[in-house]
Amino acid sequence: MGQHWLLSSAVKDLNLIDIAEMSESEAFELFCETRWGSKTEQCCSRCGVIDNHYFRKNRKQWKCKHCDLCFSVTTKTVWADRKLPFKKILLMIFLFTSSPNAISASSLSRKIGVSYKTAWVFCHKLREAIIRTEDDSLMTGEVHVDGGHFGGKPRSGQYRNIAKPEDIAAKIKLGKSQGAKRSRMSRANYERKKRNRRIPIVVRQVQPGFGGVRTRIFISKAEDHKVANFIKEHYIEKGASVRTDECPAYNLFSGYFDHETVEHSKEYSTVDGINNNQAESFFSRPRRSEYGVFHRMMARYMLDYMNEMAWREDGRRETESERFLGILRKSLFVKNSLWWRGYWQGVKRNDEMIAV
Ligand SMILES: [Zn+2]
Repeated sequence: MGQHWLLSSAVKDLNLIDIAEMSESEAFELFCETRWGSKTEQCCSRCGVIDNHYFRKNRKQWKCKHCDLCFSVTTKTVWADRKLPFKKILLMIFLFTSSPNAISASSLSRKIGVSYKTAWVFCHKLREAIIRTEDDSLMTGEVHVDGGHFGGKPRSGQYRNIAKPEDIAAKIKLGKSQGAKRSRMSRANYERKKRNRRIPIVVRQVQPGFGGVRTRIFISKAEDHKVANFIKEHYIEKGASVRTDECPAYNLFSGYFDHETVEHSKEYSTVDGINNNQAESFFSRPRRSEYGVFHRMMARYMLDYMNEMAWREDGRRETESERFLGILRKSLFVKNSLWWRGYWQGVKRNDEMIAV
């Protein structure tokens, strides 16, 4: 059996010390090279002319030779109007990209010495860059689809459940918890669960022998025929091989795709090897992040967290520097932040991004 990818030396081509030993001007040059692909030429953010513009050294800005605009390396990126030094931004990006199950804003703020608010908005800006640079072409080949239930976990209440002898007997007889009488959820807890529970739907393109290669995700309130219709129109190319569980909502796939199902009440994979395990296994990463890192995902921002997880899943075989530079590039190519500029001053994204 081969060595695990994360234990190999190939993956460790960049570490925290490399970035910590950089000077502020080296960090600035890395930003310039990543954005413009050159140390000497810049692209004006208004007229778009690529030239060696007039450099104002003290301000780290350029004045355009053609339209007189003053611009910096972060103009019209998510880092526009930044106050953090370049090196600190790079350190924070590295901590974000090198954590397998995400990093909490609280932890990031303590590691770097910034306020919780700064760290929280910082992470969300990276998530915005991930969402807005998503490849939205249709998926082909083998595609696995599934929905997971997240958020709105009810509190356990004041009293512990005391199992009655007949419940235990029923449990033993069935071998599962289905026969046991469930304790009643209080009305308040039920309402909370109903209000905050969302169903992220994952669509994953699978390459046999390698696992999931592309992951896209959207949020819905129920796993029904509207969801199936939405996937059919926006996510999968006609004629692809789609694998789902036995959820009746997906029955309408049969007319458009080569559709096979696996009955999860009986098995995880059929004797012919039909399964949607790559979609099922995707949810283990956000589940661990919800329990171990975030502790709570607000329904309003669930799409952001889920897209971060999809990006982590797709980049699992990349090296540290590929992940790091990839997300730095995304953050510089996406225009000004639409959702997180002035968040703590009251400019909030009020609309919940629910697809169907
Ligand atoms: Zn210009």
